[in-house]
Amino acid sequence: MLNIVLFGPPGAGKGTQAAKIIEKYQLVHLSTGDILRGELAAKTTLGVEAKKYMDKGELVPDEVVIGMIESKIGQNTGSKGFIFDGFPRTTAQAEALDKMLNKRNIPITVMLSLEVEKDELVKRLLGRGQDSGRSDDQDVSIIENRIKVYNSETAPVKGFYEKQGKLKSIAGMGSIDEIFNRLCEAIDKA
Ligand code: AMP
Repeated sequence: MLNIVLFGPPGAGKGTQAAKIIEKYQLVHLSTGDILRGELAAKTTLGVEAKKYMDKGELVPDEVVIGMIESKIGQNTGSKGFIFDGFPRTTAQAEALDKMLNKRNIPITVMLSLEVEKDELVKRLLGRGQDSGRSDDQDVSIIENRIKVYNSETAPVKGFYEKQGKLKSIAGMGSIDEIFNRLCEAIDKA
């Protein structure tokens, strides 16, 4: 199995690149942000609860997202692999993911970390907010908070995979195709 953690700050291009990677490598795409927005659209209790955090640019509690991912993994055990997008976002989530995957003997193959400068992130997110109408992409103070939370709580997850020799940093600036080619090169060597 090919199991990829696609990592990077909000606006790094994880969703865009994940869509291209799943097509090429036939993987199951697990985006906690997409799953949470689906719950919200369906007005489930989980979605309504998660919205309180998402609207502020804060992280939804670990146990909520860990439970969501565990059930999705269980539903797709026959697949060629998974691409985790927007998860894990804390060290506790990374530890929980390792436990779930090790139990099934399907460890993470590689973490691909997209590196993008902050000014570019804000520009991309505001652009996306205009196109998609996503409320957390339209307000500069929410965007700033998401980047702050990324730096304090999420960036340390890189160290978790670095210790396992699985971290690959990828330049996330340039055209979508240029970045995709860099990612594919790293996947093919992993
Ligand atoms: P995203 O689409 O990945 O930018 O996620 C949108 C929002 O959903 C984030 O700002 C968080 O509030 C929440 N979220 C998504 N994934 C996670 C996660 N792994 N842990 C905690 N909160 C998450």
